[in-house]
Amino acid sequence: MLRLMCVTAHPDDEAGAFGGSLRLYHDRGVETCVVCLTPGQAATHRGSARNDAELADRRREEFAAACQILKVSEGIVLDYPDGQLYRQDLYRVVCDLTLRIRRFRPHLLLTFGPDGGMTGHPDHSIAGTFAALAFQWAGRSNRYPDQLREGVGPHRTQKLYYQTGNVALPGRQPIALAPTTAVIDIGDYLETKIAAFKAHTTQSPLWALFESHVRPGGGKEMFHLGARVTPGPIAEETDLFTEVEE
Ligand SMILES: [Zn+2]
Repeated sequence: MLRLMCVTAHPDDEAGAFGGSLRLYHDRGVETCVVCLTPGQAATHRGSARNDAELADRRREEFAAACQILKVSEGIVLDYPDGQLYRQDLYRVVCDLTLRIRRFRPHLLLTFGPDGGMTGHPDHSIAGTFAALAFQWAGRSNRYPDQLREGVGPHRTQKLYYQTGNVALPGRQPIALAPTTAVIDIGDYLETKIAAFKAHTTQSPLWALFESHVRPGGGKEMFHLGARVTPGPIAEETDLFTEVEE
């Protein structure tokens, strides 16, 4: 069975940035796993939550509801602090992600690039940087060797993708987006993606803005191939699993 892992920063990233592809590949028989590094407790929009802990609890539930809509096989929210990923201990977070890769053994890893994806959020940049290191190091027996016991072995994920797009969002700090190398037609899943985003009820003030961005060009999700186990030139892709071996 083919497996895909997605590393995000906040509950709602799985829907907003990757939702169409997550559901599309599930329907093609791929097992999917989302690892979200924070419970999103620093969000501007907080519903009726009275404090960070309450907001974190709500957002974990919303994440679970979105994962159900997207039919994510395994959805995990870790407990790193929202808004503070750049201050976390690199060795520890990459260790955490490396172990998850070695256990789930994905064929593909999807995350954000150092640009932070379309929103340029600093947490996205750092989540993607941690994930890219874990992608590289999970396959090396000399990285985190203490993990290599009880059935856990080195694992080489075949491809690493960064979420990207062809236009930057207006009115934001400048970002240099990773060039698009893969365009995935998620037209049949656009409504599902929007429904998954709307499972995040604390973020309801963002729904209209999200829909207005995603509907016009939303039949597509775009990615940048950041790394691949087979060296060679890049080709434009319409399927992330192109040349992936089971
Ligand atoms: Zn986010």
